[in-house]
Amino acid sequence: MKREINRYRESERGRRSRPDSPLTACAVWSHDYPSGVSNLGHQQVWALADDAPGWSADRIYALDRPEGRPVSFAWDRPLGSFDLVLASVCFENDYPALLDTLNAAGLLAGHGERGGPLLVAGGVAPSLNPLPLAPFFDAVCRGDAEAVLPSVLEGIYSNPPRTREEAWSLFSKFGLHVDALEAPGEQKVWTSRTYAASEMVHPEGHFGETALVELGRGCPRRCRFCAVCWSAGGFRPADPDALREQILGVTRNLDVNRVGLVGAAVAEGDGFRDLLKWLKEKGLRATASSLRADLVKGDTARLLVELGQQTLTLSAEAGSQGLRDALGKGLSDGEILAAAAAARKAGARGLKLYLMYGLPGETDDDLRAAGTLTAEIKKNLGRTRLTVSASPFVPKPGTPLADSPLLDERELRRRRELLAGALRRAGVGSFTGESPRQALWQAALTRGDGTILPRLLEGETRGTLIKEAVNRR
Ligand code: SF4
Repeated sequence: MKREINRYRESERGRRSRPDSPLTACAVWSHDYPSGVSNLGHQQVWALADDAPGWSADRIYALDRPEGRPVSFAWDRPLGSFDLVLASVCFENDYPALLDTLNAAGLLAGHGERGGPLLVAGGVAPSLNPLPLAPFFDAVCRGDAEAVLPSVLEGIYSNPPRTREEAWSLFSKFGLHVDALEAPGEQKVWTSRTYAASEMVHPEGHFGETALVELGRGCPRRCRFCAVCWSAGGFRPADPDALREQILGVTRNLDVNRVGLVGAAVAEGDGFRDLLKWLKEKGLRATASSLRADLVKGDTARLLVELGQQTLTLSAEAGSQGLRDALGKGLSDGEILAAAAAARKAGARGLKLYLMYGLPGETDDDLRAAGTLTAEIKKNLGRTRLTVSASPFVPKPGTPLADSPLLDERELRRRRELLAGALRRAGVGSFTGESPRQALWQAALTRGDGTILPRLLEGETRGTLIKEAVNRR
């Protein structure tokens, strides 16, 4: 493990931090280095802390850290020696790895027994539901860290809390979720209109040596299962001129010529095609995250392929148009087929299709329809290779489908088999995606309260906790 960390450290390109300030923070990513170096949220938290007056910041990667006491990535300092820990988590299934890291550092304790650094958690998963992590942290930040973290850091620097209780009341003053307080005050979900770009790149990151740039936050559509569009703040596209400046700056600073266009709604608005044309004029290469099929018009697909994107990704979610309509997805079979044809015509090497199963109101016919749709797509694809990712539906807090009942593991497996058979008949032999067990564990944590992780640590099995979540109607 130590060898890998050295390799990551030596080949990383980007800003460096030094422990030359009176206060130190450690940004802890709840998964491995290749995913952390590809995550703008984690990078942003680290950079905000390192830029704050009076603070310097380092990082730790929960799955890529030395055995024994965790030490930080660049400075080799024990996690317990920092003043503040800023943990970022995207996926609920990473909570146990994060708690393992705190435990290995001797920092896993209830509010009354906790010593050492102040512990703050944030990220997509705890923003949706702060309760599962709250017993192990002094505060949970919900929403966009950019909107509140600089003020919190300034508050600690200018008036350092003398006790844990003083820290809790400072966090509470800024609207963070503070589990230890009986009267926690108003809790906020923070939203920001600043947009992140990569602070560093590494060849082994998920996107290789690609500078990631956010095109916006939120989404203007209203898919009923999607946490992105129902979360606070609404659709916030980046200003086109500021975005171009940011792209020029980050590619120059990191010495890369490839840009990853990141966001839930990257292709929304007329500006997307103009942006692709501009990237081409500048001699840059680019890829975009998953696109809505109705936005993959001929020109857009062609430009993306010319910019170097080899595989286009479409989210159909459900196989039948009726179920997509019920989900508010607003995509017709015809639009999906037209997008596939545009990908082929543009010369894309691959097309990736995202599906879900176990959806509310789903019938066996809807699953068979996924096979019919896939067969039609394949007919349109020529030499372009089709791959499919299909995962069970997980109801997310804050969405209209948040209270949908959870199917049990047996039923999810049956539906998965049915879908697999329909895809096989359509010529897709296998597909990737979360397993029913992984999805149910995610759902149990997404819906969990402050007892679920303490019970896991006390020896309750995931199976028991999943069954309770399934039976709670
Ligand atoms: S289009 Fe995509 S990002 Fe937008 S609401 Fe629907 S699923 Fe969410």
